[in-house]
Amino acid sequence: MTVSIPYSTTQFASLEQALKHYFGYDSFRPGQRQIIEYTLHDRDLLVIMPTGGGKSLCFQLPALLKEGVMIVVSPLIALMQDQVQALQNNGIPATLLNSSIGFGESQSRQAAILDRKIKLVYVAPERLLSESFLGFMDQVKARVGISAFAIDEAHCVSEWGHDFRPEYRQLQRLRQRYQNDDRVIPILALTATATERVRHDILGQLELQDPHVHVASFNRPNLYYEVRPKGSQKQAYVELFQQVQQTQGAGIIYCLSRKRVDEVTARLQQDGISALPYHAGLSDAVRRENQDKFIRDDARVMVATVAFGMGINKPDVRFVIHYDLPRNIEGYYQESGRAGRDGEPSRCTLFYGAGDIKTVEFLIAQKVDPASGEPLEEEQRIATQQLRRVINYAEATECRRTIQLGYFGEDFPGNCGTCDNCCHPKPIEDWTLEAQKFLSCVARFAQRDQRFGLNHTIDVLRGSKNDRVLKNGHDKLSTYGIGKDRSAEQWRLLGRSLIHQRLLDETSDGYSMLQLNDLSWDILRKQRSVMVAIDPVKPGDVLAPSKVDAAEVEALYDRLQKLRKHLADEQSVPPYVVFPNSSLRSMATAQPQTLAQFAKISGVGSRKLAQYSEPFITEIRAFRTERGLPLQTETGTVPQATPSTAPPTRASETQLQTLALYQEGLEPADIAERRNFRLGTIMSHLAELLELGYPIDLDDLVPLDRQDKIMHAINTVGPDALGSIREHLGEMYGYDEIRLVRSRWRRETA
Ligand code: ADP
Ligand code: ZN
Repeated sequence: MTVSIPYSTTQFASLEQALKHYFGYDSFRPGQRQIIEYTLHDRDLLVIMPTGGGKSLCFQLPALLKEGVMIVVSPLIALMQDQVQALQNNGIPATLLNSSIGFGESQSRQAAILDRKIKLVYVAPERLLSESFLGFMDQVKARVGISAFAIDEAHCVSEWGHDFRPEYRQLQRLRQRYQNDDRVIPILALTATATERVRHDILGQLELQDPHVHVASFNRPNLYYEVRPKGSQKQAYVELFQQVQQTQGAGIIYCLSRKRVDEVTARLQQDGISALPYHAGLSDAVRRENQDKFIRDDARVMVATVAFGMGINKPDVRFVIHYDLPRNIEGYYQESGRAGRDGEPSRCTLFYGAGDIKTVEFLIAQKVDPASGEPLEEEQRIATQQLRRVINYAEATECRRTIQLGYFGEDFPGNCGTCDNCCHPKPIEDWTLEAQKFLSCVARFAQRDQRFGLNHTIDVLRGSKNDRVLKNGHDKLSTYGIGKDRSAEQWRLLGRSLIHQRLLDETSDGYSMLQLNDLSWDILRKQRSVMVAIDPVKPGDVLAPSKVDAAEVEALYDRLQKLRKHLADEQSVPPYVVFPNSSLRSMATAQPQTLAQFAKISGVGSRKLAQYSEPFITEIRAFRTERGLPLQTETGTVPQATPSTAPPTRASETQLQTLALYQEGLEPADIAERRNFRLGTIMSHLAELLELGYPIDLDDLVPLDRQDKIMHAINTVGPDALGSIREHLGEMYGYDEIRLVRSRWRRETA
């Protein structure tokens, strides 16, 4: 498949070159290249990739290389907006059409499409299939051509998926309408939902023809999975708090109920963590606001019910904690999978306590037919089975990945190296003797035709004198007090382990009575031994092995993050739209000081190079200056004579072009327009030129009184961190004018 790629543009020698140009990445993720090649060859495709696998690129890059426009169908407006924004930020001509856009704007976007100014059009399914829009599409097809239909979140066509949307069913009409021609317009369906049933539905519903089906592994190697024991409520919160404190970056904490969300949020806030709640009890406006704050890094932690997360496009979530038990494994996989979409190491923690099992069981018992009040037995049965699997997962001693992936039908060999069970294998101990004591106690009850639960059995074993023990005369049993040598917690561990190993039964009538089975009798007859995994985990000692970077890299990374946040706020976009964390990390490590070096950073494409190289390079150089590290120009290294000012000796080519236009008398805005650059970029050219001693008239650019205030601020907080100078001045001052005045300051103090 590597021969004769039918590019519409011959601009690129290879797909890699196109990838670097538009998206700034050096290489494809597994699967992407092949999918892109098939798309370029007009093949129908079904792409199944886990969240964060990089599905979007699979249709975005071909859209740019093919003739015509690509129509992208996506169910959530917020998600579409994010994607379009991110594309536009990369200088990619994309737009979106939905009902929230006014008539005028909508008309002008449609005109731009017919004018061949757009390569990707995002549209909601209901809009796409309206008569008027279909009419418009016919026009598009005739005048510009449609390169393909990309159906994102394609599982929405299936009633078997977790997110069925009836409008998606209508998408069949696309195939019917656009196939009896010279060319069948290909359909590219994408989803992160793995089950066979849903897959089958997508193929059928969308009438894909001889499709190539790409199923990626669902393994997410950058996620560290762990289960931590959850003690009493009070203890549990302390552990949660410690974990949040020890982990850097943004995180989500899932709780089972609204009440719990509110409690946990309030406590975290009291303890100085910037946390916000999200659940169905809050108004739409509040939810939207909290979500935005989280996405924009204005709040670090989102405490939420499972209502939160679908369609949240935040790639740099560093941890997901399930403070309560998830209801099933698939749900757990999806929710925990919201961590680390950017591929950076992230942590997924499940807090597991026996008390939670009761809560979930209670919720399951509430599943009744609202009309008749009869229990929905089928649903209850399925839910109970799913709960059992979650418990098995939580209590397992083998590789967590093996269990999760096994659930999706994927064989995983184990030994992943990034789960608690692989990193800290639990010691297994022979507890046969204890098991015999425990089971014989249950047998004594049975002899009297009695049944009791775990706690009462433990009370008897430990010789408790509580009412229930005395009233039942259980202090007279031969097993009374034979287990004083072990703590109640140890007996509970054994009891649960027996149940999960199916060496003892527990009634599922809601009372959880213990009951011997055949295997229990084998143990009592000394025909079977009992091994129990001892959980030696102490709070706080299972932190994922994290790379400790040199302090210098961390310090710079920190500064770059602040700069990114300021730039993002200036444009009202989430920080990751400016650069993903991985790019910042490469910058902190590589410390590019010239355009050529900066262009090599992963995530820096042509647009971002133009838009952001100046502020980031400036920040990196300032950082190096402060630390007395040598600075570089496009041509060579400049040894630092005076640490705070060591300008490159000569302006760069691009700065000189700006200078030429400036000297023709153009305003900065006009220069920006003429050169097709952001105004900010031109302003930083002027600042750099000024600093180098070129004739730039600062008074023309920044009023005198503002110059004075900025000079004063620089004298107070120092010249190096733009962010700090701005913080000192307040929001009425912009980066451009600060940068310009700083150049004056530097020239004057050099
Ligand atoms: P999905 O839609 O499958 O959940 P996305 O398309 O949102 O995933 O991609 C997840 C992240 O991975 C994004 O930040 C994206 O920019 C990044 N990404 C995608 N492809 C590559 C690549 N080839 N190299 C580096 N990063 C990539
Ligand atoms: Zn493992």
